[in-house]
Amino acid sequence: MSGGVRARRRAVFVDRDGTLNRELVETLARPEQLDLVPGAGEALAALREAGFAVVVVTNQSAIARGELDHERLARVHAALAERVEQDGGRIDLFLACPHHESDGLAPYRRTCACRKPRPGMLLEAAQRLDLDLTRSWLVGDALRDLAAARAVGARTVLVATGKGASEMERAKKEGGAPDVFVPDLVAAVRAILAEAQGK
Ligand SMILES: [Mg+2]
Ligand SMILES: [Zn+2]
Repeated sequence: MSGGVRARRRAVFVDRDGTLNRELVETLARPEQLDLVPGAGEALAALREAGFAVVVVTNQSAIARGELDHERLARVHAALAERVEQDGGRIDLFLACPHHESDGLAPYRRTCACRKPRPGMLLEAAQRLDLDLTRSWLVGDALRDLAAARAVGARTVLVATGKGASEMERAKKEGGAPDVFVPDLVAAVRAILAEAQGK
């Protein structure tokens, strides 16, 4: 990459629950509950090495419902960042939507711009990290994750972990299929890097 203008960075947006860590029945509110999917840290390390920014984008309406607060969420994310760093990866930014349209209490009970399928978190990350969204990807286990990415021109990977397998079945009937469907985050990163290196 030569010339005076530095190219904007590419990112991989990663959903949290069901994609990066095992989705729990209860709200993930304590670091001890964290259970990363196998190989997640190494996969994020490979993205970092290839020059991608890694951004976690997560809907956390548990905050609106009063099951979680920002402080506990920050502790969980600090622990998650540390786990990933132990494997050589780095999460450049965590963004969480605390809102819900109809559940919970003010000020979090409202229609916001950030709850996926809306793309607010992706747009915020793009501004803060100077990202090229059309050369970026999102990995998630829900069709609403993919919709947020599609809204900003990013490409989409659906993983079969979490809700992903049933979401793929739903996409076959209702539409909204991903660009790529793979078993898990490790396979998602492999697919993204294969595509990136092919260009
Ligand atoms: Mg999820
Ligand atoms: Zn929100």
